[in-house]
Amino acid sequence: MADKPEPSFRESVDLMFNRAVALMDLPPGLEEKIRVCNATYTVRFGVRLRGHIQTFTGYRSVHSEHMEPVKGGIRFASSVHQDEVEALAALMTYKCALVEAPFGGSKGGLRIDPRQYDEHELELITRRFAYELAKRDLIHPSQNVPAPDMGTGEREMAWIADQYARMNTTDINARACVTGKPLNAGGIAGRVEATGRGVQYALQEFFRHPEDIAKAGMDGSLDGKRVIVQGLGNVGYHAAKFLSEEDGSVITGIIERDGALFNPKGLDVEAVHNWIVKHGGVTGFPDASHMAEGAAVLEEECDILIPAALEAVINLSNAARIKAPLIIEAANGPITAGADDVLREKGTVIIPDMYANAGGVTVSYFEWVKNLSHIRFGRMQRRQEESRHQLVIDELERLDRHMGDAWSMTPEFKGKYLRGAGELELVRSGLDDTMRIAYQSMREVWHERDDVDDLRTAAYLVSIGKVAASYRAKGL
Ligand code: NAD
Repeated sequence: MADKPEPSFRESVDLMFNRAVALMDLPPGLEEKIRVCNATYTVRFGVRLRGHIQTFTGYRSVHSEHMEPVKGGIRFASSVHQDEVEALAALMTYKCALVEAPFGGSKGGLRIDPRQYDEHELELITRRFAYELAKRDLIHPSQNVPAPDMGTGEREMAWIADQYARMNTTDINARACVTGKPLNAGGIAGRVEATGRGVQYALQEFFRHPEDIAKAGMDGSLDGKRVIVQGLGNVGYHAAKFLSEEDGSVITGIIERDGALFNPKGLDVEAVHNWIVKHGGVTGFPDASHMAEGAAVLEEECDILIPAALEAVINLSNAARIKAPLIIEAANGPITAGADDVLREKGTVIIPDMYANAGGVTVSYFEWVKNLSHIRFGRMQRRQEESRHQLVIDELERLDRHMGDAWSMTPEFKGKYLRGAGELELVRSGLDDTMRIAYQSMREVWHERDDVDDLRTAAYLVSIGKVAASYRAKGL
């Protein structure tokens, strides 16, 4: 096994695509058209910093324009390269199709270690990168809409939005040029938590199906399940937080850059998060054992493994030793194609990245719609909904007075029933609905087709089918 070469990230995505497409009956040539990346733009630009000019390299890949705008995050990391950006762009195409977000697939990356720069320097670099992309319509409300990814967040998105607005002063839809912005700059409630929240909703939906739970050799609910998370960044932190605070799961391991924390009784996610913010890593955190060789904790006993950091962490060198019966790919591409073969053979159930982390693009879609409609979700109907509920409560209370002590409403029920949905509740509801429906579409294929024995192939079949249908509708 160790002699088998490990494919690159893009080759891994292509191999998984090929496995699925071999089970489909597409018109000749369409398979190739869907698989290839349409274009990748490479830019090298200089920024004067600390007295001299530093040159940076950035990419924006457009994988598929079967729907426009195309969509995909911008990653800041020193490991960024063309192969990775193209793989991530391809995953965006399949992800958007699977969750019915009306976008083609794209991705961007800047080769930089953001921790080496202060905020002002990062702003200069981000604005210059945004300028280079925007002047070629690679940032544009109707052509190409970036979002956050590893190493970027609300702050960078606000700079990008502002840079675009400065370059397009009369564009009334300028704010829709990028998503993941802070609320005060045209963002939407619930976007920061969205990808981690989506991981939670995906697991909740998985645990609604006893047949699926049994396939992973488990039973019961999320309550009490032991979870190991790799990467306590945006996605990993929110997923771990919600699973432990709301579903009763026990976070036994957290793997970060500087090692891993392990505590079979459960780690306090909020406390670990605060420790990382203060100390820059997990080292020294009390109430847990610390392992310097963090990646080894991927191989510890647990019920659910959540890789939420970077790609290819489960590969041919460690796949056979992974004990978790259920892996949910919160990161993009954490399992290589070779490792995927090994794990499938062992019977490990894998909830694939293109579904598992689609919460981000789903809420980005809501944000983009909000920006184009120029109104906050819930603004028109919230109070009207509350007054209709008030009518029901008033009537029930009138009946209550006639019936004496026979029954009465608790104040908690009244409070909850009377509260109309604001933007956050609507966003969570839309995300939950999206994650449930997309899971059911994959699961149907998984259970009904004899030639499909994993959720990843099922996910590819659903999404390639949708992309093919939109090419057909275009006359291709
Ligand atoms: P982030 O930068 O907020 O967090 C990444 C975390 O991983 C950080 O805490 C970092 O310290 C840790 N990390 C880095 N290298 C590590 C290593 N070798 N071992 C252990 N931990 C390591 O990034 P994020 O936005 O949370 O993205 C994580 C993954 O989720 C990426 O694969 C990204 O493409 C994917 N994703 C993110 C979003 C989103 O909305 N942010 C959406 C979809 C998918």
